[in-house]
Amino acid sequence: MIDFTIPPDLAEIQSRVAAFVRDRVLPIEPEVDESNFDQHLSRLQGAGREDGLWNPHLPPEWGGLGLGALGMALVSQELGASGLASLALNCMAPDEGNMHLLLHAATAGQQERYLRPLADGATRSCFAMTERDVGSSDPSQLRTSAKEDGDLWVLNGEKWFISGANGAAFAIVVARTEDGGPDADPRTQFTLFLVDADNPGWRVVREIPVMGTHGPGGHCEVRLDDCRVGPEAMLGERGAGLKLAQVRLGPARLAHAMRWIGTAQRALDIATERALGREAFGKQLIRHEAVAWMLADSAIELYAARLMVLHSAWKIDEGMEFRQEVSMVKVHVAEALGRVVDRAIQICGSLGYSSDLPLEGYYRDARAARIYDGPSEVHRMVIARNLANAMLGEGTTKPATGGLA
Ligand SMILES: Cc1cc2nc3c(=O)[nH]c(=O)nc-3n(C[C@H](O)[C@H](O)[C@H](O)COP(=O)(O)OP(=O)(O)OC[C@H]3O[C@@H](n4cnc5c(N)ncnc54)[C@H](O)[C@@H]3O)c2cc1C
Repeated sequence: MIDFTIPPDLAEIQSRVAAFVRDRVLPIEPEVDESNFDQHLSRLQGAGREDGLWNPHLPPEWGGLGLGALGMALVSQELGASGLASLALNCMAPDEGNMHLLLHAATAGQQERYLRPLADGATRSCFAMTERDVGSSDPSQLRTSAKEDGDLWVLNGEKWFISGANGAAFAIVVARTEDGGPDADPRTQFTLFLVDADNPGWRVVREIPVMGTHGPGGHCEVRLDDCRVGPEAMLGERGAGLKLAQVRLGPARLAHAMRWIGTAQRALDIATERALGREAFGKQLIRHEAVAWMLADSAIELYAARLMVLHSAWKIDEGMEFRQEVSMVKVHVAEALGRVVDRAIQICGSLGYSSDLPLEGYYRDARAARIYDGPSEVHRMVIARNLANAMLGEGTTKPATGGLA
């Protein structure tokens, strides 16, 4: 039986999160700028705790609501209406993904030292994988190295576009520890390390200026120069770095898609309200077919996006294989977001292009969605590879198209 009813406990949390965004976040959004961001965020975080919504993604023993992927899909769609909302509940990238990774791979000592303060909202973190000098879509090319020196590991290299690095308490760094030669499986050549930001070998060089919003800590260029860490800094097993990065990135990609749906929904609401409330050439904008069709196309794309996200989240919760679905979600929702926001700007005309509405900011941010956590082209490559494998192995591509009926 296929039952699309939202379980009552999740529906209740979703409606409380929607109320939090509507009553607490959106009213202050227009006042927030760089000068008062920290004060506003800290007040919103207090409100999030007060409303019993803090850390929706973490288990109760870590002070959270214990939501799985489906619960987070529902909640994040509400949070996506404002860039502030996920931060207010402590479940924004990159910290959310790092918390998942620490839960999954860290020792009890590492969890106490790194996860505890993150869960309390006392620190921020970053995830350092990408490098400027190599095509980092292909992580086998990453050059940052970690070499053994007695009991210590010495890390050298440079990382770039590291979100949140400025002011983060620590980084999870992907570094090459093995030299298995050209034939070695790259998934066995890299290891993750926990690097404290006060390590003298870790340096944030600059926040890179970008076209969209940059969130707390910016997107940074970072250097590791003879950065020495002890054996206790290794996160997970030696050589398992890229596999663990995938553990982090799979659900993290879905979490982004869930938030993008919230953003796209708000863009569609703004455009529809405008099209109802304004007239040109003797009738409401929405009565002009060209406008109506733009709105309809956005609704269709949002519906597909929601179904895809909810189905993938369900697969994760059921312990089923989900990577093909999450790749399809990443491509579809990132690209649909761009189109939905673009149409909303068009429908709102000059107002849409102005900063009086959030749409122009959404438009700039949406552009990055097609690049980070795997560019669309790389996900398409993976999707097509899985189609070929399914065809060759099972005589049909059907299992690689979502595995539905
Ligand atoms: C806003 C933002 C935040 C980010 N935050 C982080 C972070 O916190 N930590 C981190 O480590 N990284 C982060 N990144 C980096 C991001 O993950 C990388 O930019 C991304 O993985 C692509 O790597 P690259 O930039 O080196 O592109 P490249 O690998 O140089 O690829 C460039 C382009 O080539 C094309 N291409 C590549 N491979 C293929 C292929 N197989 N088939 C067809 N076309 C292909 C694609 O169009 C791709 O966009 C962030 C990026 C952005 C924009």
